[in-house]
Amino acid sequence: MIYQSTRNNGLTAPSSAAVLRGIAPDGGLYIFKDFSAMDFDWRSALEKDTLGMAEQILSALLPEFPDMGALVRRAYLNKFETEDLTPVVPVGGRYVLELFRGPTSAFKDVALSMLPQLITSARGIEDIDDEIVILTATSGDTGKAALEGFHDVPGTKIIVFFPENGVSAVQKAQMVTQEGGNVCSCGINGNFDDAQTGVKNVFAAVDAGNLLEGKGARLSSANSINIGRLAPQVVYYFKAYADLVKAGRVSVGEPIDFVVPTGNFGDILAGYFAKHMGLPVGTLVCASNANDVLTDFIRTGVYDRNRPFYRTSSPSMDILVSSNLERLLFLLSGCDDAYVAGLMAQLKETGRYEVTSALLEKLQSEFWAGCCDDAGTKASIADVWNKYGYLCDTHTAVAWNVAEQYAAAGVSSRPVVVLSTASAYKFPAAVLDALGIEPAGDEFRIMEQLQELTGVPMPKNLSGLREKPVLHRDVIEKDEILDYVLRKIAQPKWN
Ligand SMILES: *Cc1c(COP(=O)(O)O)cnc(C)c1O
Repeated sequence: MIYQSTRNNGLTAPSSAAVLRGIAPDGGLYIFKDFSAMDFDWRSALEKDTLGMAEQILSALLPEFPDMGALVRRAYLNKFETEDLTPVVPVGGRYVLELFRGPTSAFKDVALSMLPQLITSARGIEDIDDEIVILTATSGDTGKAALEGFHDVPGTKIIVFFPENGVSAVQKAQMVTQEGGNVCSCGINGNFDDAQTGVKNVFAAVDAGNLLEGKGARLSSANSINIGRLAPQVVYYFKAYADLVKAGRVSVGEPIDFVVPTGNFGDILAGYFAKHMGLPVGTLVCASNANDVLTDFIRTGVYDRNRPFYRTSSPSMDILVSSNLERLLFLLSGCDDAYVAGLMAQLKETGRYEVTSALLEKLQSEFWAGCCDDAGTKASIADVWNKYGYLCDTHTAVAWNVAEQYAAAGVSSRPVVVLSTASAYKFPAAVLDALGIEPAGDEFRIMEQLQELTGVPMPKNLSGLREKPVLHRDVIEKDEILDYVLRKIAQPKWN
């Protein structure tokens, strides 16, 4: 299967090169033209265990990698709380797909456990001696999951940029205490979009100026713009479906809906991939917080980032430019590279574009969208706890709230799976507050309060955080990112 840039049908690459580069040389994202080339046997995938399923799905999406089974085992064996990685739990007539049982209690672990394996393998396939320097912009969770995935992985280094005042104290503590000789995390005076734009600009500047020529290093990305980040996320849609079949809740072939708390549009796009690889999916419901740019887009066809940016209680979704949407636009436009390039140029220049009515119609035939603000998030956390005794985090609560709106709209009677993307203990103050208790003390004390109140055990990786020494203290301006990266790459020893 050939990958290519969303902005130029002529810029192609095998999957191994696409994983190594992260982003296409023209700033487009790597994508394939259609799903039929995969010829994917989805029924047989449903019968496998989790790792077997992952091997089959990842081999279809990334065919150049020779020993996917071994890579999958190295990525996942004994790293998650449960053998099946992503359990499904019935809650109040719906199902919650728990994606946060990994080493950093965030759903990003699913992909970022796998990506280092793909990158080291791709380095071999592509016969590269250079060290791979991973650059990552994070709204909180990607950063830690990427640091955890890449620390001490031979042939790689990783630099994570996070908004200095835009992540929770626990998220920040997770990143600045990260150990490993090849890791670095750095705060940015700006928001996530500033960090993400800054990182994208580094890729462009390094490419345009050959800035790493002869330096023994090349850049790659661990953001969901990397196809190696996206592909592992397809697996849990199949896994959730298989679990519901096994539990006798759905019969094979019966479509189900997924509600996805969305930021950069990676998670929900993986659901779209799963659907077009054959999985019986009805509607993909895109849930946003007060940063509702995607809700408006899916309802009207107008993408307009010229609007206030809100810091919400679900910070991993505080995003106004959802990068992965570009891949969906490419597929829905019938692989019209010039059209996508035009939209992206408009987005860059004016912050806005409008898609054709034909494209909007296709979009609306597969997606539904809703949003909720912090008050709605809070109400849903309380509701899910009081009615069903299930503790959910703020991001999951946004999705739950939108699932309720979706039910009220009466457009589907299919079973609904709500994706749960973080442990409640990653956002303890907001969750405790929603449960009617005033949070007191620092965030670690608040985590204990939450545990005392609910009896839901705190994940082990979070409970030891307070005692860990801070190892990373850099904070820079958003226009200093390129200099910072070049300076770090020139430094022989990091920690
Ligand atoms: C990253 C993240 C999301 C959003 O996922 P996207 O793939 O960026 O849409 C939602 N919830 C949490 C907790 C996250 O970390």
